[in-house]
Amino acid sequence: MSHILESWFPALQDNLPAYWLIIYAFLVLRYVIFAGAAYGIFYVWRKRAWFYKKIQQKYPEQKRVLYELKYSFSSLAIFASLAVFIKYATEGGYTKIYSDFSEHSWLYFLFTVVIFVLIHDMYFYWTHRAMHHPLLFKHVHKVHHMSNNPTPWAAFSFHPLEALVEFGIIPIMVFLMPLHPAAIAVFALYMVSLNVIGHLGFEIFPRGFTQHKIFGLHNTSTHHNMHHKLVNCNYSLYFNIWDKLMGTNHAKYHSTFEEVAARKDAVPVSSNEYQVASTSYEMQQATD
Ligand SMILES: [Zn+2]
Ligand SMILES: [Zn+2]
Repeated sequence: MSHILESWFPALQDNLPAYWLIIYAFLVLRYVIFAGAAYGIFYVWRKRAWFYKKIQQKYPEQKRVLYELKYSFSSLAIFASLAVFIKYATEGGYTKIYSDFSEHSWLYFLFTVVIFVLIHDMYFYWTHRAMHHPLLFKHVHKVHHMSNNPTPWAAFSFHPLEALVEFGIIPIMVFLMPLHPAAIAVFALYMVSLNVIGHLGFEIFPRGFTQHKIFGLHNTSTHHNMHHKLVNCNYSLYFNIWDKLMGTNHAKYHSTFEEVAARKDAVPVSSNEYQVASTSYEMQQATD
């Protein structure tokens, strides 16, 4: 990637600020495309039509959305810095990144994508549990939890220290095992997509999903939405494995999901508020 950029723009040769800026612009663009598409569809275009699928039956204040944007842009600056660090470390021969595809098989390539996702899933669960220690929560993780009714823009709304920890999995992995840049790109696309879905605020999976033998291993929008609203439950990221193993799924996770997924209709209450017909939807506070 860096060689291609340098052949196109020779002035970039060892121009650290220019590199940083290009990577930051790319990350911002990716975030705006993914989170922006989700926000545009669910919060603007289909706001009324799909309100019945809104997990919490209300919209957040506009100032909260701006807050999510502000912290996400700051997190992406940290991410860009880590990417520049990886570039220089790779050029210095310190990482295990390989650019020649023929060095390893396709099977190995696929294996690295899968293992990357699984390791990140474990890494996220435990760093997230640590973030809920009262001290770290108060000074760091609270930024993310200011969004108790998150929108897709909250996908990267972290305190800078949390951004460093969360994205830190990539620099750790490039020192641990041989990875092709394309494998990192596939992992990053999955990570961004799932972060956007987790903060979507709308449920998109069908009834029975969470109790299905295979699909049930994957998390839903409702799962992370409950974490934002109720805090001391549902810590996992991609899969519902660690929460199951550690007994940290909210007791009402499945029933809440079913209630949201089963909704059929919505009636407008006023121009900005809607109410789902025939539902007494109320999430209970976690007892921890
Ligand atoms: Zn949390
Ligand atoms: Zn979140």
